[in-house]
Amino acid sequence: MPPMLPSPVSLVVAGGGPAGFLAAITAAETAPGSSVLVLEATPEPLHKVLISGGGRCNVTHACWEARALVGHYPRGGRALLGPFSGFAPAEAVAWFAERGLELVQEDDGRLFPRTNRSSSVVDCLRRAAGRAGVVLRTGASLQSAEALPQGGFRLRLRGGEELFSERLVLATGSHPSGHRLAGSLGHALVQPVPSLFTLRLQGGLLAGLAGVTQDPVELELQPDGLTSRFRQRGPLLITHWGVSGPAVLRLTAFAARDLRQSGYRGTLRIDWSGGRREPELQECFARLRREQARRQLATARPWPELSRRLWVALLEAQGVDPQRRWADLGRQPQQALIRALRDTGLEVVGKGPFGEEFVTAGGVPLGEVNTATMESRLTPGLYLVGELLDVDGITGGFNFQHCWTSGWLAGRAIGA
Ligand SMILES: Cc1cc2nc3c(=O)[nH]c(=O)nc-3n(C[C@H](O)[C@H](O)[C@H](O)COP(=O)(O)OP(=O)(O)OC[C@H]3O[C@@H](n4cnc5c(N)ncnc54)[C@H](O)[C@@H]3O)c2cc1C
Repeated sequence: MPPMLPSPVSLVVAGGGPAGFLAAITAAETAPGSSVLVLEATPEPLHKVLISGGGRCNVTHACWEARALVGHYPRGGRALLGPFSGFAPAEAVAWFAERGLELVQEDDGRLFPRTNRSSSVVDCLRRAAGRAGVVLRTGASLQSAEALPQGGFRLRLRGGEELFSERLVLATGSHPSGHRLAGSLGHALVQPVPSLFTLRLQGGLLAGLAGVTQDPVELELQPDGLTSRFRQRGPLLITHWGVSGPAVLRLTAFAARDLRQSGYRGTLRIDWSGGRREPELQECFARLRREQARRQLATARPWPELSRRLWVALLEAQGVDPQRRWADLGRQPQQALIRALRDTGLEVVGKGPFGEEFVTAGGVPLGEVNTATMESRLTPGLYLVGELLDVDGITGGFNFQHCWTSGWLAGRAIGA
């Protein structure tokens, strides 16, 4: 028997994802005794948390300064300064610790549960919801919501059941039903487009180099037909279809809208040297010609971190025999190699598969909510949180962080 709820329910949260759970738990903890109901359309709440981070769940990122943090959100940016001054990664770490889940930081700043299992995060959220008295209904999809003139909402579920609630949180992620619900309550929609994907490139130089990683590289992307340019620096992975890796995912997150506009076509310029200046490379080549004169080009790379397979491919692409000795490298091929190391131009011919995280850019414009409380500026009593909003972060735990932050702010405002 599902628990009896009063009518109207104090709060209905549509969407049992991370943002919806944080909103529901925080509201119930802030106002003990209030009735909080989470409606989840599928049989499995928190499904994305379970499959996130390759089954490990990258909960947040060790980025403690709000000003630095907002730089990781291609959509949202500075408008998130306010929300993050209320609930940032440090608060998320403490929130989970207080509820028995310890997060551990990796070298690159990503934070995972100590168990290394996303199921621990799911268990923690479900336990906290249960303890706070939140009622969860699965297989319950919110179909329509009507704001009543006297305040509160009339809600209709799939199957026809009707519910009344004083407040409503929409936490439906990127699902079209949430976009429809928000639209019916007066909100606009920034067209959703994919973010955080890899790039498909025209074969050429990279054919046969799948599996090679180079760190760091500097990337510059210019989508076809547009004047915009996007730059990133970091690790790159060559794949069977093109390029992937953190630098590429960051690049496509920031370029998501422009790439969509250009039909996912453009030019990618790669600096394999990671930003070494030309005089530095001239000096490096001169030293190798002196000190490694008798060694073959293929066996003595300009610097140890340069992938051997990549170096040989660059030599071959410039028509330089990899068996040639350093002493025999002429001026012209040296110039060509330095140019190729600093600036290889490749044609982007499409969008590759997604990385480990899949997120959508687009949703309800952030300007339509009060970012101190996440309450709608258009419909009082309505709150919008998580990926439903036009906010998305780069890979590394930033997307969940926005869910914790927006969910917590809404829950606290409602509970208070
Ligand atoms: C494979 C994968 C891995 C990821 N890994 C990471 C990671 O490691 N770190 C990170 O920060 N981010 C990660 N992300 C992104 C992250 O999962 C999302 O940003 C986050 O889940 C968004 O949370 P949300 O609560 O807004 O929406 P969701 O998690 O999408 O939850 C929304 C819920 O609402 C339900 N729903 C929709 N419509 C209705 C309705 N009408 N009525 C009732 N219920 C409804 C849905 O069934 C869903 O359960 C990953 C994403 C994917 C797909």
